Amino acid sequence: MRFSRLFAPTLKESPAEAEVISHKLLLRAAMIRKVAAGIYTFLPLGNRTLKKIEKIVREEMDGVGAQEILMSALQPSDLWMKSGRWDQYGPEMMRLKDRHNRDFALGPTHEELVTDLAMKEARSYRQLPLTLYQIQVKFRDEIRPRFGLLRGREFIMKDAYSFNLDQDDLEKSYETMYHAYNRIFSRCGLEFRAVDADTGLIGGSVSKEFMVLADAGEDTVIYCDTCEYAANLEVAKTRTTDTPATETDNEGEHAVGEGDLCPECDGLLKSAKGIEVGQIFQLGVKYSEAMGATYIDENGDLKPYVMGCYGIGVSRLMAAAIEQHNDEGGIIWPMAIAPYHVEIVVLNYDRDEQQELADDLYNGLTGRNIEVLLDDRMESAGKKFADADLIGIPVQVVIGARTLKSGNIEVKVRATGERRDVPLEKAVELIADVVRELTAG
Ligand code: ATP
Ligand code: MG
Repeated sequence: MRFSRLFAPTLKESPAEAEVISHKLLLRAAMIRKVAAGIYTFLPLGNRTLKKIEKIVREEMDGVGAQEILMSALQPSDLWMKSGRWDQYGPEMMRLKDRHNRDFALGPTHEELVTDLAMKEARSYRQLPLTLYQIQVKFRDEIRPRFGLLRGREFIMKDAYSFNLDQDDLEKSYETMYHAYNRIFSRCGLEFRAVDADTGLIGGSVSKEFMVLADAGEDTVIYCDTCEYAANLEVAKTRTTDTPATETDNEGEHAVGEGDLCPECDGLLKSAKGIEVGQIFQLGVKYSEAMGATYIDENGDLKPYVMGCYGIGVSRLMAAAIEQHNDEGGIIWPMAIAPYHVEIVVLNYDRDEQQELADDLYNGLTGRNIEVLLDDRMESAGKKFADADLIGIPVQVVIGARTLKSGNIEVKVRATGERRDVPLEKAVELIADVVRELTAG
């Protein structure tokens, strides 16, 4: 892609409304634009990153046998009446009426719709276990939409639902998803932790949240400095000092905090801020019983599906990645989710030799399936370098008068600032090596 043609209106200053770093940089680097509070348009660069995250999510979901569907965002109220959540959900649910005065909601989540689908179309035990997923827009009229993509009112979620034969079967699906989630967040280049979690409005018993550790996080993660114990503060437990055999949690006297005793070993608890990028739930029969959703078992008896559900905040993940990967210059995209792999900054594209060199390199790299942004704009070197750092493409390549004189191309790794000169005749190969190294992590 040529930068001169790219729709990327970068900003020098942070808009006043942006409080956290990811929001500032998403706006400044022309990844998103605001439509209304908590509602955004993804511009070409942001959209490319979003699609890369979605691709990783799809590969891992398909890899564990989940099947992709696409459900409607517009949902009739009757299904929500059946589950009892039409009243429970409250003002967070965006509601509207059609021309016949019938009630609808813009889906905040899809348990009702998918359960209705399964009970009509997956009637036999032979079809189970069945896991369906989608990557789709969700609507929640959040009381405080803020922090850009971290808490939107319209956002993109991957939601998966498993229909299982019994509790044992559910535990297998849950475990499989747990591992798939670990792979997804690792592949996206995130530092994260799976923690015990509250089940909130979704319900069910067992649940884990996946937390990206970052100061902008609205959740508090309590974790042990010695063992694997980690929990959202909402459900964190500690061992009381007076009666070491008993556990206590945040429901009792005492709020769990830093320095308290771990409930599972002799370690001490610590706390950190986290951004919830995903959550998995063992729902059990909550929805199937409320909605009368049953399958026919091998003896011909009707049994309620035992269900699980599994969400990832795809657009939130994009912001969380920036919270973890940035510096004063801008974004530092992990290779796997960067809008492009390499940016070629040409200092004087109007000079024939530089143009020729840049175009050759561009063609050589794209021929190797490397995604390249070529800055061919008639802008100052300073502006081009600043934009390159801001947008955060992992590898920067500089072509200028010096390149021609020395016969070497300067290659800079965005994350470390490390620069190396590579000889012109080997440039394609050596830059491809750098991309490969950074992909491997
Ligand atoms: P939160 O506690 O942050 O409000 P939640 O627990 O209500 O989130 P879930 O119902 O678990 O959210 O939804 C699955 C995933 O969708 C979450 O783990 C999160 O990553 C993402 N998500 C939820 N609400 C929002 C939002 N308002 N904006 C962006 N992503 C969101
Ligand atoms: Mg959640």
